[in-house]
Amino acid sequence: MTTGKINVSVENIFPLIKKFLYSDHEIFLRELVSNATDATLKLKHLTSIGEAKVEYGNPKIEVKIDKDNKKLHIIDQGLGMSADEVEKYINQVAFSGAEEFLEKYKDSAKDSGIIGHFGLGFYSAFMVASKVEIITKSYKDEPAAHWTCDGSPEFTLVPHDKTERGTEIILHIADDSTEFLEEFKIRELLKKYNKFMPVPIKFGTKKESLPKPEDAPEDFKAEEVEVDNIINNPTPAWTKAPTELKDEDYKEFYRELYPMQFEDPLFSIHLNVDYPFNLTGILYFPKMSADLQIQKDKIQLYQNQVFVTDNVEGIVPEFLVMLRGVIDSPDIPLNVSRSYLQSDGNVKKISNYITRKVADKLKSLFNENREDFQQKWNDIKIVLEYGMLSEPKFYEKAGEFVLYPTVDEKYFTLAELKEKIAANQTDKNGKVVVLYASNKEAQHGYIDIAKEKGYEVLLLDSPIVSHLIQKLEADNENLTFVRVDSDHIDKLIQKEDTQISKLSEEESTKLKTVLEELVPKATYTVQLEAMDSNAAPFMITQPEFMRRMKEMSQTGGG
Ligand code: ADP
Ligand code: MG
Repeated sequence: MTTGKINVSVENIFPLIKKFLYSDHEIFLRELVSNATDATLKLKHLTSIGEAKVEYGNPKIEVKIDKDNKKLHIIDQGLGMSADEVEKYINQVAFSGAEEFLEKYKDSAKDSGIIGHFGLGFYSAFMVASKVEIITKSYKDEPAAHWTCDGSPEFTLVPHDKTERGTEIILHIADDSTEFLEEFKIRELLKKYNKFMPVPIKFGTKKESLPKPEDAPEDFKAEEVEVDNIINNPTPAWTKAPTELKDEDYKEFYRELYPMQFEDPLFSIHLNVDYPFNLTGILYFPKMSADLQIQKDKIQLYQNQVFVTDNVEGIVPEFLVMLRGVIDSPDIPLNVSRSYLQSDGNVKKISNYITRKVADKLKSLFNENREDFQQKWNDIKIVLEYGMLSEPKFYEKAGEFVLYPTVDEKYFTLAELKEKIAANQTDKNGKVVVLYASNKEAQHGYIDIAKEKGYEVLLLDSPIVSHLIQKLEADNENLTFVRVDSDHIDKLIQKEDTQISKLSEEESTKLKTVLEELVPKATYTVQLEAMDSNAAPFMITQPEFMRRMKEMSQTGGG
């Protein structure tokens, strides 16, 4: 028997471990299952290169609750450890890892945006256990070892009679953590963190009916058998090549990710890059409306198929956080603050890559089936318009697929629109005037008048439209946007045959005087040029500029 003292530089690390990441101590299970997965995949690798001359077989990981004895077991069939290796990897490597992590955390804790998702490793077991045992047998021909530690720096290490290869971790769950002895709790955690891990994870058993044979008689009763309850899907769609997957496979994976979502996504984007960083994933555009609620089905971030977080802020460009799906990248630093994340070069590259892929996909959807793209426009416009405002790289590409619908449901790109209206809609400064409505019902009178004059009227009804317009005008010198009920409409160059007013000048002046008594002059202008219209006898308009400034202050900075 060996007893020893783990080399501690901090007086005692364990109370620190218990305290630390208090709200997050459930991650112990993810850490231990990750270690079990690593051990299994290492063995796979060693057998594949011929270094380990053992049968790899179909290894699985088992998680087992022993409620009576207040124990939780995590059992793998991976490469295992010899006593020497336990000394080295558990007492030294794991410990130094945990210590280093805590050291780092202590400093960055001041920065409230810390992302402490990874790094504590094996010793996170002590966040929930008063005693931890490791029983392990190496794939090499060495006796099994039994390590025990009660949360003080002292440990014991003795031989064990375990014969099967692999490692069993036994947690003696502490009195303040008994929730981790509940089946529903463990299942919830396994589903949350390990749903897509690459080695099958068994949690209990379930009954399954054997398939009905071809020649089964009428009164055939399917035989029920007890089978392993495997909690995870080891080969989720994002780990496969895009060429292997059909549209239906993407939809099916969406349902797997979000079982409570009954509506199909509009389309998906498969991310797949291995240089200069590693990243895979699938993003989905869900149906979206302008009054978007804070959604709980968010993009999930994984590292090597291990769930990390669904807060992807700083990693995914801001305008895309409303999308759904997964991204998996080992290249995202996770024990850092948010501000660090935003300045990290690799993370910036990842964010740019995602932006580019999304823009490329939108462009190809537009090119391949414009009709379909137009139909989806209302459900995606809010994201795209926001992207144009917040992401210069996206804005650069947006001209190729962003649409401007008219009140009659025609859809133009900006270039198409300009070409269409250049001859007919210009103001006295020679600028092309884009007329738009923000509410078809409320502004129908103005819309009708404009249409009578042969103008195209766009329907721009997103909440951020005033910001977008501002940007488009800034970048297109000869373009000006004017809302259909604004006083600029009379400054458009009229076509020859457009009648202005049937009233005499005297009559006009009289009517105008009367109307101006009735409406607040400071905000509205009375116009009579549309007197001939069936739609409205006169117009009361508001200066474009004033109204827009007000709107922009209401919807915040762009
Ligand atoms: P990390 O996984 O980042 O290396 P951990 O603290 O989680 O850090 O684990 C430390 C080391 O202990 C691992 O690198 C591995 O060598 C060893 N280890 C932990 N769990 C197992 C296991 N189930 N089977 C074999 N080795 C293990
Ligand atoms: Mg680990």
